Amino acid sequence: MTNDTWGQIREELIKRVGKNNYVTWIEPLKLSHLKNGVARFEVPTTFFGDWVQRNYADHIRMHLASTGATVDRLEFSVGAVESRAADPKPAAKPVRARPANDADLPGAPLDARFTFDSFVVGKPNELAHAAARRVAEGGPVSFNPLFLYGGVGLGKTHLMHAIAHELQQGRPELRVLYLSAEQFMYRFVQALRERQIMDFKELFRSVDVLMVDDVQFIAGKDSTQEEFFHTFNALVDQNKQIVISADRAPGEIKDLEDRIKSRLQCGLVVDLHPTDYELRLGILQQKVDFYRNQYRGLVLADGVLEFLAHRITTNVRVLEGALTRLFAFASLVGREITLDLAQDCLADILRSSDRKLTIEEIQRKVAEHYNIRLSDMIGPKRLRNIARPRQVAMYLAKQLTPRSLPEIGRRFGGRDHTTIMHGVRKIEELMAIDSQLADDLQLLRRLLQG
Ligand code: ADP
Ligand code: MG
Repeated sequence: MTNDTWGQIREELIKRVGKNNYVTWIEPLKLSHLKNGVARFEVPTTFFGDWVQRNYADHIRMHLASTGATVDRLEFSVGAVESRAADPKPAAKPVRARPANDADLPGAPLDARFTFDSFVVGKPNELAHAAARRVAEGGPVSFNPLFLYGGVGLGKTHLMHAIAHELQQGRPELRVLYLSAEQFMYRFVQALRERQIMDFKELFRSVDVLMVDDVQFIAGKDSTQEEFFHTFNALVDQNKQIVISADRAPGEIKDLEDRIKSRLQCGLVVDLHPTDYELRLGILQQKVDFYRNQYRGLVLADGVLEFLAHRITTNVRVLEGALTRLFAFASLVGREITLDLAQDCLADILRSSDRKLTIEEIQRKVAEHYNIRLSDMIGPKRLRNIARPRQVAMYLAKQLTPRSLPEIGRRFGGRDHTTIMHGVRKIEELMAIDSQLADDLQLLRRLLQG
């Protein structure tokens, strides 16, 4: 058999293994000999050979056999083969066998406190929690990827770490890799610099569960995106679980390639909603149980937790920070934790949570979102691509601030209150029929209320 025949056979493997695995693992194989039932291939690294042996040997044997050749086994020898995926100038690369243990997984450390036990479930996060639980069982992949999104401090990282902890406990044989998108980029750039791209690819393709936190970070970073896309596809093709988090929905991440957006939307996309009062109170109560042990003898007056849950609505991290400070302060001065003490000790946090949204901030965010100038918000242009965002800003100003229509009109370049009313109505109408607009509004509202 010639290498040409092999070339034809291997292309048939695309259907079997998927395009990405094909490009990464099959295409670089060079058939060097086929005799006495042994097919020998040249591969770029030992790991590469092991990987193909483990994952694709049966398919390859079957396809070779379909041409009438007798093939009992495959052998791999490390040769001068240049992998398509590899560094363009692999200068006689040292061969390294890579033990498949977790020590070589370049993941980020996990926070021991971020477990399912310490995660308080409420209406705003119940779906995300249920999906994370499902993934943490490590059973057959039922949705891929799991895409978790929501504003800062709503528990995305916590849930991802919880999944990793749970998998380590229940399915220790699985290779679980958690890292931030920033770390992914850093590793990638480092691999490029050190001409270790093949190793990088091998590593990321050899995990069973990949979790990438804050994926919005790679938006606009073209080659990292590209690499992420290939890694992603290769793992999905192999039916490996992927979990992704971001601060917004896939479709809303600017400067992210469309093909990546659509890939990210293929699995289960769940949204962590801003916390509600009950959830905040639940989280505080759980923390207090913890502090009661740490600061024995401290007295917590009634109503303090309710007060905090009511007043600090921004994010859970701030809420936790407030409670931590309160307990530390109270124990330092040896006083009971009362409402007065809370108000004193947390004055700055309470003040910034009180912060009122201004019309200017709304105009700025909306202009930014639709890529128009801030000056066009108040200017006279009537072009649709400017007038519509302006109406969105009017609508949000009405919804999110206590300002009257004439006041809003004044801030939109001295427009009449009827113009504002018309704008608000228009958006209300459109929202019902235009799901893109409805999504835009939901995002903007979240960004503004942070
Ligand atoms: P994100 O990654 O979404 O910005 P994190 O997961 O880092 O947010 O959460 C911020 C902090 O709030 C962490 O200390 C986390 O433990 C805590 N937290 C968030 N949501 C919950 C929850 N539902 N129950 C308990 N703690 C929570
Ligand atoms: Mg996070």
